[in-house]
Amino acid sequence: SLTSRNALVTGSTSGIGLAVARALAKEGAGVMLNGFGDPAAIEATRAGLAAEFGTAVLYSPADMAKPAEIAAMVAEAEEKLGSVDILVNNAGIQRVSPIEDFPVDAWDAIIAINLSSAFHTMRAAIPGMKARRWGRIVNTASAHSLVASPFKSAYVAAKHGIAGLTKTAALELATHGVTVNCISPGYVWTPLVERQIPDTMKARNMTEEQVIRDVVLAAQPTKQFVTVEQVASLAVYLASDAASQITGANLSMDGGWTAA
Ligand code: NAD
Repeated sequence: SLTSRNALVTGSTSGIGLAVARALAKEGAGVMLNGFGDPAAIEATRAGLAAEFGTAVLYSPADMAKPAEIAAMVAEAEEKLGSVDILVNNAGIQRVSPIEDFPVDAWDAIIAINLSSAFHTMRAAIPGMKARRWGRIVNTASAHSLVASPFKSAYVAAKHGIAGLTKTAALELATHGVTVNCISPGYVWTPLVERQIPDTMKARNMTEEQVIRDVVLAAQPTKQFVTVEQVASLAVYLASDAASQITGANLSMDGGWTAA
């Protein structure tokens, strides 16, 4: 149980992050949600989790592309929850395009949100973790932290980057009771995957059915999508005391993708 812990999960209004926040709240952790979306829907999610699990659930609208907002979010979580013991860097966006057509602002946004935001949250949250001599940092990387696919230059670069940041932070914090790991899912059926189907259809000149069969599930030997609940259960395990000797690891959950 994580009843004595508080967690901050970036990008948790949807998809994997929401499932992770939910699973942590279910274990009794206080949680700060973050991400974009319809304010009324987010408030319903926040209040629903708090009521269902009887734990503190807060929400920050901080933009993970903006370092000052990230620092303020961590400070607010520490102040209102009492600590940030578990930091889950999960916010992420995708863009599919050949390099020569890749919009420069999309490159900058992906590097900022998928990679640099984790540096900014860590920078702000590590002092408290060190002072309490306990912490868990879990980064949502991707199979694309280990292998590449064409037309995803910024995403693959950011995910390889977060795998390196994870290892570096793990070494720096190894004697402080703080573990740092990343989870590398293959294809998980979330809005992020759904949204890239039209661009992939364009980039590869394929129908929707061809993209799902020949691009998405072609990469995954099991021919099944990973579920958000499966990713969340690994995050909960990494946050537990049982996982205290797992640090600097990049744990794949990809239906065999990176074994091939
Ligand atoms: P999603 O689109 O469902 O969720 C993304 C979340 O990030 C949302 O809550 C969104 O509001 C938030 N977000 C986006 N930009 C933000 C910003 N600037 N500031 C704050 N929050 C922001 O996508 P998902 O599939 O759940 O992706 C979550 C993470 O998992 C990402 O890092 C993604 O790269 C990674 N991932 C996804 C898959 C997959 O197949 N879905 C596979 C591997 C890794």
